[in-house]
Amino acid sequence: MRVAPGTPAPLARLARAYPGRIAAADPDGLTWADGTRMAWADGPAPRTPAELFAAPRLADQMAQAYPAGEPTAPPPPGQDPGRVRCDAFFRHLYGGGEAEVRARLAAVPWPAGGPGATLLVTTVNGVDRRLAAAARELAALPEPLRRTWLAHPAGAFYWRTIAGTDRLSMHSFGIAVDLDARACDYWRWDHPRAGEADTVPYANHVPWAIVEIFERHGFIWGGKWHHYDTMHFEYRPELLPEGGD
Ligand SMILES: [Zn+2]
Repeated sequence: MRVAPGTPAPLARLARAYPGRIAAADPDGLTWADGTRMAWADGPAPRTPAELFAAPRLADQMAQAYPAGEPTAPPPPGQDPGRVRCDAFFRHLYGGGEAEVRARLAAVPWPAGGPGATLLVTTVNGVDRRLAAAARELAALPEPLRRTWLAHPAGAFYWRTIAGTDRLSMHSFGIAVDLDARACDYWRWDHPRAGEADTVPYANHVPWAIVEIFERHGFIWGGKWHHYDTMHFEYRPELLPEGGD
């Protein structure tokens, strides 16, 4: 991976997170291993939350830093690191359509769910290996934690849009996992009349011991978003400390 002088630091970080897939980064954008170019900040910046979520540039996708470590306070309004996503970037990484994504899936053992339990995720970028490693550690947590949050995960791969939007969910790419929805909190369920631009009172019941394991294996947590989705974990190594597994 080549990083040209003058490349914005968040772009270099994004490129380094996907070795073998992204060949180079420069001040104008990135070059995929197949030669495709993708611009870093083409056109004007989005002006409204609706524009930001509907048609972000790569620079907008990387604009917010994901806070490291255990949170000491709820995420402030406007802090949703990782929720702004360029559809074209993820389609290039994981597959442009459902059939293409499906052809790259694997069933990962989920021992906290009992013998034979599995979750379907992509093999691209080793996401299946990383989830399997996290799953082994999660299964070693104390029984009350396993029973409440891990025994009945709400799902992994599922080709669908995000509730209330026409944007593809990261579950569509096989890079996201949901814990037991009954034990978790989601802003859209708690505040059905609120929109992306509204502030909402934060809620979370997921213990840090679970989050810490996922993060160490490359998965960010929806509990670090003001628009919280505390059951949700997704593979986004570019937002986590570098040098992990
Ligand atoms: Zn989810």
